[in-house]
Amino acid sequence: MSQPRILIPIPVQGEGPRPRFSLGENYVKALLACGAVPLLLPVGVGLDEARALFEQADGVMLTGGGDVNPARYHQSPHPTTYGVDDARDELEIALARWAAEADKPLFAICRGIQVVNVALGGSLVQDIPELVPHALRHSGDHSRRSEVLHTVRVETNSLLARLVGAGEVGVNSFHHQAIDRLASGLVITARAPDGIIEGVELPGLRHFLAVQWHPEDMAAERADMQALFCSFVRACVPSR
Ligand code: MN
Repeated sequence: MSQPRILIPIPVQGEGPRPRFSLGENYVKALLACGAVPLLLPVGVGLDEARALFEQADGVMLTGGGDVNPARYHQSPHPTTYGVDDARDELEIALARWAAEADKPLFAICRGIQVVNVALGGSLVQDIPELVPHALRHSGDHSRRSEVLHTVRVETNSLLARLVGAGEVGVNSFHHQAIDRLASGLVITARAPDGIIEGVELPGLRHFLAVQWHPEDMAAERADMQALFCSFVRACVPSR
């Protein structure tokens, strides 16, 4: 059995004279722990080449990062909008649409759940603290990335429930945006107690799952979070 190859866009991070391509090591470690081979795809590669690599890959992972350009969902930017990268938006939105159309397994994390929703026609809450009354704190302490900040309620009869169990699950949280208007076809499978959407999936596909928290930073300590990666990788195993 060959090892599943997972395509992961890798963005440029930071400014200044020597910008670097950057991806959190924990995403890669969580996949390696399941026997997958991460294929890091630099943002800037043209869509034709990205499509060719998509065809060769067994799955797609979308990771955390800055905000999607609000123009993608026909809004002007809120003052707190940060880190917009139009080339990254273009590449990741294309990958999310291709994965949905081709029924290729996808696992999207944090910014990734927002990319998936925008790619399929939805919109985002541009700033939770300012726009959602009575919202919980969703911006955790970056020096304690694995720490639980709030719970989510996972819907029964969902892919997510099969992976981490239905009901209350404690998660970390590092986001100031969230899904607002849900894209048609997506189903909400987890919410925080304040109503913020924390998990969505596309039913009827092999494995099309997105979460708002960062399971890669909890996976070393939490078997349920590591299971999110290994179930995704198993869904990607080529059936040849
Ligand atoms: Mn949260």
